[in-house]
Amino acid sequence: MRIILMGPPGVGKGTQAKKISTVYEIPQISTGDILREAIVNDTQLGRQAKQYMDAGRLVPDDLILDLMEDTLTGEKCKPGFILDGFPRTVPQAEGLDELLEKLNLTLDAVVVLEVEEDVIVNRLSNRRSCPECGAIYNLQTNPPEKDEQCDNCGTDLIQRSDDMPETIKNRLRVYREETEPVIQFYDRQNLVQVVAGEGSVSEVWKRVQLALSHK
Ligand code: AMP
Repeated sequence: MRIILMGPPGVGKGTQAKKISTVYEIPQISTGDILREAIVNDTQLGRQAKQYMDAGRLVPDDLILDLMEDTLTGEKCKPGFILDGFPRTVPQAEGLDELLEKLNLTLDAVVVLEVEEDVIVNRLSNRRSCPECGAIYNLQTNPPEKDEQCDNCGTDLIQRSDDMPETIKNRLRVYREETEPVIQFYDRQNLVQVVAGEGSVSEVWKRVQLALSHK
């Protein structure tokens, strides 16, 4: 299966992508995670991406497309993939189409998670993640057992630097202006399945599975 998971920041893409990855046995490719790791490792890509990410802006298309070409042509993506956070602009979607054509591959589905904007702001400001194992928590709806420590590995949880109120507003604006047109791009290819992102993780997961079963 080759799937794209789209939706505004904080809609629950990362959480649902992990489930899809486990059940369909395909790697989760999250550009955000790859970029954050590049920043931690202080690579050239990390140094180039950091200023954009801290401001809640998009990293330039050419950097992202180079990164994705390397990733998608790798051995890891042979069984398929679930893309989480890419493509985020129409030029990125066009670049992905070209790359897939070169590799003689097609997409199976583009799942779009939708949720009201006030729910998103609330979710993002309560989001905490584990810098060690990547587990994601919400202090209100899915809190860790011990105060701000990871249930899996005991590491102190962190709040992403771009989950601060001003940056959240900017990321939502960027989503509306740059990323929503990508949904129309894939709608013209008849690939889009819209899924309501409200409710618990397991409720949303049921809807995602139903959407994918139509493919
Ligand atoms: P995410 O973890 O998906 O919310 O991504 C965090 C940040 O990484 C975004 O706000 C962007 O600055 C950057 N980023 C992630 N994916 C992309 C992409 N496909 N294109 C441009 N910037 C990206």
